[in-house]
Amino acid sequence: MRIAVCVKHAVDETELKIDSGGKPLLSGATSRMSTFDKNAVEEGLRLKAAHQGEVVIFTVGPSDSKKTMKEALAMGADKGVLVTADTTSIDTMRTASLLAAAIKKAGPFDVVLCSEGSSDTYSGQVPPMLGEMLGAAFTGYARKLEVNGQTARVERSLEDSLEVVEAPLPVVASVVSEINEPRYPTLIQIMQAGKKPLEELNGDQLQPAGAYRQASVVSMSAQQSARKHVMIEGSPDEAAAKLVEALIREGVLSK
Ligand SMILES: Cc1cc2nc3c(=O)[nH]c(=O)nc-3n(C[C@H](O)[C@H](O)[C@H](O)COP(=O)(O)OP(=O)(O)OC[C@H]3O[C@@H](n4cnc5c(N)ncnc54)[C@H](O)[C@@H]3O)c2cc1C
Repeated sequence: MRIAVCVKHAVDETELKIDSGGKPLLSGATSRMSTFDKNAVEEGLRLKAAHQGEVVIFTVGPSDSKKTMKEALAMGADKGVLVTADTTSIDTMRTASLLAAAIKKAGPFDVVLCSEGSSDTYSGQVPPMLGEMLGAAFTGYARKLEVNGQTARVERSLEDSLEVVEAPLPVVASVVSEINEPRYPTLIQIMQAGKKPLEELNGDQLQPAGAYRQASVVSMSAQQSARKHVMIEGSPDEAAAKLVEALIREGVLSK
């Protein structure tokens, strides 16, 4: 079985600082593997263990994305394909189209895995676009994925319900974090990852820009929420009583 896993080199949101105007300070921000993409890699490795074959990592991003790709290779993936592009100036459609072009070039693949959304911009748009561009069935929010013969059976975690769907291969699936517990590579695996094949393709040569119309992000800022800063003083009993009164006044609690 050939398994493609799309892994994003995302801005590390836990380290991101915000300026006084609410704008993220992106220059110099550190990047790392998008959180849930570790689950996608893990699921690819589990499919490989069950069916044999190979796991290929695909990333669209700048050259320093290799750091993230090496982490996926250390986890156990066989090789990587990096499509170089400036992800701060391309939209989800261009990202998906570059991934689709690289996957077609290295294909065919039976299963293409993504995560439900990236940990920095979390649009959740790339995986379904990829399904469409590859002409494959798409199943989003997979919390369980099994392949029997030429059919994928996917348990989908929806907000209030679980849905079980079946789709013929090839299939594109986005996974949720409940699907598995990603493994930690050992030191030896980390050292060996540097020797695994990592192909680099130039995004503009792979697919000239302009194949799709492009949306541009014109501003990016944190949501502002007004706070009332109510200070409650007194002994614990008095403060608790005042807090309950205040919450009733605000309509948070009812009498
Ligand atoms: C600093 C910064 C500036 C940006 N500026 C712009 C801009 O000017 N214009 C604009 O349109 N967009 C901009 N973006 C958004 C950027 O282009 C998106 O990150 C990209 O289009 C993918 O969207 P997403 O991360 O929301 O993907 P999602 O759809 O949330 O990702 C879901 C899954 O798809 C896969 N995937 C997504 N992206 C990749 C990737 N690059 N490589 C491999 N797999 C991937 C992964 O499996 C991921 O878990 C900016 C982002 C950042 C961080």
